[in-house]
Amino acid sequence: MFQKMLIDGKLVGKDSKKKRIKVINPSTEKTFAFVPKGTKKHINQAVAAAKKAFPAWAATSQKKRQDIVNKMADVVADNAEMLARLMVKEQGKPMPEAMGEMAWTEGYLRHYATLSAKGRMIQNDDDFKIETRRVPLGVVAGICPWNFPVLVPFWKIGPALVAGNTIVVKPAPSTPVTILKILELCNKFVPAGVINAVTDENDLGPLLTDHPDVAKVSFTGSSETGKKIMAAAAGTVKRVTLELGGNDPAIVMPDVDVKATAAQIYGGAFLNAGQVCLAIKRLYVHEKIYDEMCDELVKLAKGAIVGDGLQQGSTIGPIANAEQFKKVKALLKRAKKDGKVLTGGVVKSKKGYFIKPVIVRDVKDGDDIVDKEQFGPILPVIKFKDIAKVGKAANASDYGLGASVWGKDVKKATRVAEKLQSGSVWVNQALNIGPHIPMAGCKASGLGVEQSTEGLEEYTQIQVLNIAR
Ligand code: NAD
Repeated sequence: MFQKMLIDGKLVGKDSKKKRIKVINPSTEKTFAFVPKGTKKHINQAVAAAKKAFPAWAATSQKKRQDIVNKMADVVADNAEMLARLMVKEQGKPMPEAMGEMAWTEGYLRHYATLSAKGRMIQNDDDFKIETRRVPLGVVAGICPWNFPVLVPFWKIGPALVAGNTIVVKPAPSTPVTILKILELCNKFVPAGVINAVTDENDLGPLLTDHPDVAKVSFTGSSETGKKIMAAAAGTVKRVTLELGGNDPAIVMPDVDVKATAAQIYGGAFLNAGQVCLAIKRLYVHEKIYDEMCDELVKLAKGAIVGDGLQQGSTIGPIANAEQFKKVKALLKRAKKDGKVLTGGVVKSKKGYFIKPVIVRDVKDGDDIVDKEQFGPILPVIKFKDIAKVGKAANASDYGLGASVWGKDVKKATRVAEKLQSGSVWVNQALNIGPHIPMAGCKASGLGVEQSTEGLEEYTQIQVLNIAR
């Protein structure tokens, strides 16, 4: 399979050995598709096309823009199964999760199609009429990671388009196929140049962040890359939205129903084989229930069916690419020295980047597996005694994306939650996100907001219209 890029309403790229990139299936380690090796010329063409399309798109009525975003939701819904199968091959997640990502994407797009960025009246009297307007920015660059190859690009495309901007999308190098396929299908009704997509070998991102005709960069990915993007954007004073890494703590109070809570925590930690920015990545459990909680988690982890996402019954797919597999394996090796691995580990018997869910106990703050973002199926469980101190431990991280507190006494749990330095804080649940809920990171987890009206506003500029009467 060879899937082309989209530039100025045309499918671009030659299927020749020198000009294509392999896309590897992480379950088989075999190449299953090719995409073009994008170049500087393609980036410049894509930005030029987006710049050319911008005035007409910005002048298109809000209703028409919303209709087009709704039609994109139709494309995702009508082709969900075909697209999900494609995504499993490039990213690995089990088919039910891939179908879930399609349903999520549809839902987010439908919600964006109901939004409009509104200004406000500041003064309206005999002397002045002063109001703010929310005007689009121009060309947006959407730079994306590989863990949600369809959802995350549409988190950018949806609001960018509704607000009246045009966009150049750069998928992650290892997961470009499904998003390009969707954009090809949408090309029938999206005006030329409004959405463009360029594929790369992890080398073209800086050309977008440096480009003088790009007004804003919306980035989702690691904190390390986010810092580089922020620095690069300074040269042309680009707007940036950065949704970065996380090391989300979950704090479990002694009064919980251990079995029920363990099941929810397991779900929040191991979705997408742990490759979720907002996954539970450090679990702090009160000493009274520590052993019992570890035992319950082990039971759940042992029940996981690790395998190719296309195989019926698989509950955990592979790590999405070789580079990440290497990183997670190194962390696991270290964790074995620092703590006690109760279950799970690398599956050596078959091809593919498979790791059976790992539960590791007797680890502490300062250990790599606790302090670093593992972004894989390993859950470190840390014992705590003092509720006042555990909040401090949870906050002693450069990250601040999400956090959760679990307890029967909801008031008490909420008091602990309020003190956590995180953009999202959940009580008795995990990963409850949605298009109507703003999502923002603290500290090194990001800058700005995605989703909801607040997220939409980030794709606009305030213009003050001040009229003397
Ligand atoms: P990454 O930072 O390595 O890459 C993300 C994207 O940035 C890729 O498209 C890559 O090609 C591009 N890129 C790399 N260097 C660049 C540069 N100098 N300039 C411009 N672009 C550049 O991240 P990843 O490994 O693909 O994704 C995993 C990370 O993403 C994890 O840390 C995870 O927590 C984070 N993430 C965050 C969220 C969120 O909403 N906060 C969501 C998903 C993933």
